[in-house]
Parts: sequence; structure tokens; C-alpha cells
Amino acid sequence: MSALVEVKNLKTYFSSGRGTVHAVDDVSFSIEKGKTVGLVGESGCGKSTLGRTIIHLTNSTGGQILYEGEDITHPNRKELRALREKMQIIFQDPFSSLNPRLTIQETIQEPLKLSKRYDKQTIEKETNRLMELVGIEERLRNSYPHELDGGRRQRVGIARALALNPQFVVCDEPVSALDVSIQAQILNLLIELQEEIGLTYLFITHDLSVVRHISDTICVMYLGQMVETAPTEEFFEKQYHPYSKALLSAIPTTDLQKDKKRIILKGEITSAINPQPGCRFASRCIYADERCKQPVKLEELGEGHFVACHRAKEVNGMA
Ligand code: SF4
Repeated sequence: MSALVEVKNLKTYFSSGRGTVHAVDDVSFSIEKGKTVGLVGESGCGKSTLGRTIIHLTNSTGGQILYEGEDITHPNRKELRALREKMQIIFQDPFSSLNPRLTIQETIQEPLKLSKRYDKQTIEKETNRLMELVGIEERLRNSYPHELDGGRRQRVGIARALALNPQFVVCDEPVSALDVSIQAQILNLLIELQEEIGLTYLFITHDLSVVRHISDTICVMYLGQMVETAPTEEFFEKQYHPYSKALLSAIPTTDLQKDKKRIILKGEITSAINPQPGCRFASRCIYADERCKQPVKLEELGEGHFVACHRAKEVNGMA
């Protein structure tokens, strides 16, 4: 297996009136070709910024981005244009990401026309193929986004993202704005498309229950940093980081898990502005002690299972 996308010590900082926001802070991980990494964390933890930085919608401050082993951290204009075709994004809210003045057909055709690589006939053929691929009915061709329900609007967003045959797609909370019944349909569509076309996904969500079936690997992010990464089944079997445990405890329980207790996080969320060295979760962690003031790095505790916590072994009865 080879990595399609790899980031090494990636940083994305922003200036604010009160200091420097460390939105993404020294993050390293990779995504194998045809696989899905589920990136999970509360809103504001930097997961969307990380996704946008990888596909160059936001500038990085430091570190490296590799695509098929090639350094694409600082592409020139021509390289960026080529990358834009290979790397696409599906947004959370298809209603605000689709142009209300364009019909469904025009929306899907826009990237094809802008690329200036296709004649009229090919564009027509491609539109039909894309509509069929994502399951949009022919009769909706000349409808406008506001005439469609949320699920169909998201299908249009997906068709548009796939128009130029990308290999890598950042799915940024693609089902969060949809009804639960529709969520499953869109998730299944993304899985089918991956099987059919071999797409590679970075699937961003605040909701762990959504990523289980679509992800091969789970990465948990807290205030700009990765705190735990593991193969999906392994992660759902066992979490070592106190924050991951709290996130998992928030998933609605089934009858089989009646004794599972919800962990309610208390304490102030530390600011991502000029953060102090040491564990950023300390202000909310019931296990925090003096050691937690020291910088913390991901350490392998099981096969492919990495955790950034000074006390992970003790907390989990391994020390
Ligand atoms: Fe809690 Fe300390 Fe581990 Fe951070 S390093 S999660 S504060 S025990």
C-alpha cells in the first residue's frame, strides 16, 4: 500500500487581534490510496482547516504536504491548477455551496467548462454520466438548487466535485446538515463511489457514529493537534486518550451497551491562540497532573494505534 496523501509536521497559523491562532499545529498522518481517514473532533478543533490546507484552499505556515510522494507544499500556478483537478472538496451545506442561479445541469457542467478541455458534446455526455453516477433523476436537470431536498442537493455537490475525475476528496461534514435517514443514503453513495472509482477520502466530522462504517482509520484531533489515531475497528474496541473516550461515550448507546456511562467534559477549553506547551486537553481532563504541563507527542501503544497522553498507560491499566 502506498500513501496518496501524506502530511508531515503541518502547521496552519492565523493572526488574530489577540495573537496567533494555532489552528493546525504540527500534524503528521497519511492516507493510503483508495482508503478513508475519518478525522474527528469538536467544532473549532482545526479539522476543516487541516482539510482545506491539504488541498490548498488555505495556506500552510510550516511542514510538508506530499501527493503520491511528491512535495506539493508550495505549488506554482500551473501545478496548483493540476492539483485542483486531482483534489476536490464536498462541503457540509450544499445549499450555500451551490450557486442558486445555476440549474443542476449548469452546476455540474461548470467545472468541465472552466477546464476548457472538453467540447460541447463531451460535456453533455459527462453531465449524463455524472448525474447517473450520483443518482440524480433526469427530470431534475433544469431545476434549481432550492427546488431540491437536502439529499439531492448534496448529490449535486458530489457530482460537481467528481466532474474532473479527482483521486482525492475532502468530505467536510458532508452529512451533518441532513436528516438521519438521508445521511445513510449519502454515506452509502460515497462508499459505492469509492469502490467504483477508487477514490481516497479525508472524511471530516464532529460525529464519531458517522465515520465508523466509512473509515479505515480514525484520527482524533483536539485544538489543532492529533491526540489519537488507530485502525477503525481497533479504535472502536479500545480508546486510550481521555478525550477520545469522552467523544465515544457521547454516541447513543444500544441495548448491548446499557452500562456505558456518558463522560461529560467539564472545564474551560484552552485557547488555540498562543497555546502553552503541554497537553492542550489538561483543563478538561480528570487525569491531569504536573507531567501534563510537558509537551506531549503521539506514541504507539498498540499496532498502528498512536496516542498523545503522558498518562495513557496508567489510565488504561497498562503501567
Ligand atoms: Fe489528560 Fe495529561 Fe493525558 Fe493530557 S496528558 S490527556 S491532561 S492525562
